[in-house]
Amino acid sequence: SVPAAILSALSAAARGGVLFKGGAALEMLAEVRAFAFDKTGTLTTGRAEVTEIHAADPAAFLRKLAGLEAHSEHPIADAIRREIVARNLVPDPVIEVLAHPSEGITGRDAEGPIWAGNARMAAQMAAELPHLDGMSDGAQTLIWLGRGTQVLGAVTVADRPRASSRAGLDALRQGGAQLAMMTGDRRAVAERIGAELGLTGAEIHADLLPQDKVALVGTLAGRGRVAFVGDGVNDAAALARADVGIAMGAAGSEVALQAADVALLSEEMSQLAAAHRLARRTARIIR
Ligand code: ADP
Ligand code: MG
Repeated sequence: SVPAAILSALSAAARGGVLFKGGAALEMLAEVRAFAFDKTGTLTTGRAEVTEIHAADPAAFLRKLAGLEAHSEHPIADAIRREIVARNLVPDPVIEVLAHPSEGITGRDAEGPIWAGNARMAAQMAAELPHLDGMSDGAQTLIWLGRGTQVLGAVTVADRPRASSRAGLDALRQGGAQLAMMTGDRRAVAERIGAELGLTGAEIHADLLPQDKVALVGTLAGRGRVAFVGDGVNDAAALARADVGIAMGAAGSEVALQAADVALLSEEMSQLAAAHRLARRTARIIR
């Protein structure tokens, strides 16, 4: 039978919006010494906004890009959808769509194959990446759109940290936990967001593919129990690899909730730190 101390800890955590799949997950969290976080949609709100459009014909460019992104559940795709609605545009129909996790998306419209994605994907596809005139500070997420080897343009999107992220990370650190941010986004963006959250150089891991996140969680696991906190978009495997997988409840995908041991319904990072303290206190009581 489950000890009373665990049952009461589970219900106390649930009142703070932290749902454990069972007592074993709570006991495992008590052992966790390192927390790894996905960036987009986890430490940040996941409600990104289009900030710049670099294209000869922005409307035609957006219709093509939105046609591709209509098939994606990535927060970047949501940003493109909101932009096209705001401009009263209709996406071009795109078929044969394929997601390339942490890189981009490919498909086919009326004129032929088309692709959108980060610099790595663009470098694979395009003959040459043009210089973008008037591009701002370079610390924003950049998505290229192209057809074959030809670049059609680029957009930048910006997201911001959740209000509770900084306090939650600080509280976990005060509890002695080691912290890491793991993102598929580029380094300049990772460092800007990381700086806002009080993370330092070695804690920030950028330009990662989903399998790189899994490998890094494995590295941390060599030194003690590790938790991974993610929204399930391109990080379900890392959630599953961690000793404790923690899914962002409301914003997270179905896939995240399945792969996870804990759901963070409130999305309040300080509640995660509180749950970690509670788990450790409970473990001391029942031992
Ligand atoms: P994070 O780890 O921060 O959650 P991802 O690994 O999901 O980020 O994505 C990494 C990068 O891959 C994005 O910053 C973007 O450049 C590119 N990317 C991923 N999915 C898409 C998409 N649907 N459309 C365009 N670009 C994408
Ligand atoms: Mg993410």
